[in-house]
Amino acid sequence: MMRQRLVAGNWKMFGNSARNQLLLEGLASQVATIGKLSCAVCVPFPYLYQARSVLAGSGVGWGAQNVSQQPKGAFTGEVSVSMLADFGCRYVIVGHSERRKLFHEDDQLVAAKAKAVLEQKMTPIVCIGESLDERERGVTEGVVSRQLGCVIKEIGIDGLLRSVVAYEPVWAIGTGKTATPEQAQRVHAYLRKLMSEQDAGVARHVTMLYGGSVKAANAAALFAMEDIDGGLIGGASLDLNEFMSICKAAVR
Ligand code: PEP
Repeated sequence: MMRQRLVAGNWKMFGNSARNQLLLEGLASQVATIGKLSCAVCVPFPYLYQARSVLAGSGVGWGAQNVSQQPKGAFTGEVSVSMLADFGCRYVIVGHSERRKLFHEDDQLVAAKAKAVLEQKMTPIVCIGESLDERERGVTEGVVSRQLGCVIKEIGIDGLLRSVVAYEPVWAIGTGKTATPEQAQRVHAYLRKLMSEQDAGVARHVTMLYGGSVKAANAAALFAMEDIDGGLIGGASLDLNEFMSICKAAVR
């Protein structure tokens, strides 16, 4: 069974026009050499225009890191799904742990955002994952099943076919502490089992990424695991060579 494989970069709040230009041009020119893999970058809002211009026709996808769940209105500082769709975004990250933690986004809000993104025919990259405290208390499965369950309730099990699920243990994000391939695989397999209880066909086809301190040196071992279909890459996506190596490691 071939699932779509994907490596997506999350630039977080980094970048400037000059540096982005080099990175995007490098991606656009090198990505053609890596065969059948989807590759994308999720950039800060002010640089969406630059991503669209430089990546046009390159095969590298692009999108945003967040969006409002509201369709429109008096929400100063927010950006709507219809604006992102109008602009041509393909991907939108929703529920990143930094947004859950620092901006108090709860499961309900994340699920509403995923639904809004799908309604505009874009692809939500839905992030879920347990904190260190939750892992140490042995409640990882309960946490990720609650987070995923909330999204499924909102978008339906079929909605997952048009989404990407990113398992990102919070303790591994930006910390240099990667989950071992076996630790990550165990959670991915658990999530796929949960999905298959509702629809085995959907479970087989959903693209599931691992995220958390992925770099060129550990990517191949993670991506070799049966239920890991690629990665969501933070820090390492800001370095062209590192990101390209990670992309190559995801090709099967
Ligand atoms: C992320 O931002 O989603 C992420 C996984 O970050 P990092 O790769 O830097 O741990």
